[in-house]
Amino acid sequence: MENIIFIAPSATGKSTQSKMLVEKYNYNHLSTGNLLRKEISKNTPLANDIKKIIDAGNLVSDEIVTELLEIELKKLSGPFVLDGYPRNISQAKKLELILKKLNLKIGHVIYIDIKLDEAIKRIKGRLTCPQCNKVYNTHNNVMKPKHDNICDQCLIKLIVRPDDNEEAYKKRYNIFINETKPLLEYYKQKGILNVIEDPFYPEEAFNKVEKIIL
Ligand SMILES: [Zn+2]
Repeated sequence: MENIIFIAPSATGKSTQSKMLVEKYNYNHLSTGNLLRKEISKNTPLANDIKKIIDAGNLVSDEIVTELLEIELKKLSGPFVLDGYPRNISQAKKLELILKKLNLKIGHVIYIDIKLDEAIKRIKGRLTCPQCNKVYNTHNNVMKPKHDNICDQCLIKLIVRPDDNEEAYKKRYNIFINETKPLLEYYKQKGILNVIEDPFYPEEAFNKVEKIIL
């Protein structure tokens, strides 16, 4: 199995697709958000730096994210799916350097394309656990909590994140589309870009993903 990068605006279900790859094909799921959260939970000097940056409402630098990614990639055995990184060409080039050093390569970049109005419908079903940050979605069966409005792991009530509203999402979506356009062109020229159009059901999208990777 070859290594994969998922690129998609939020609410397209790329974390669901990643999860399905983990379950069916033993992929390692690398999400930069999760790497940061995992690091913060340790009591290291780097963890404290990251916490300060996030608490101040700033974005964690590319250098820190790449460093965490490199540490994680070194530990891996088996294929990986990268979710949420790279976001721009500068990050893509940093990633290439790391992969080269570790003698790894990306087989497929998969872009999940979703129209803005469809994405908004889904964003309205998003629920987040205030304790472990796990994201659920009442609009699809794979991401539904086992019990209505309750986190499967923490057994506490789920919340709607304040930035999961239509206006905030529209803004994020437009920024994302503008930021990633050059990135998609970059991977297209390398001949590894695949585009999946608007997958409503996770199973249907997964069939398309399997066609690409198998
Ligand atoms: Zn939880």
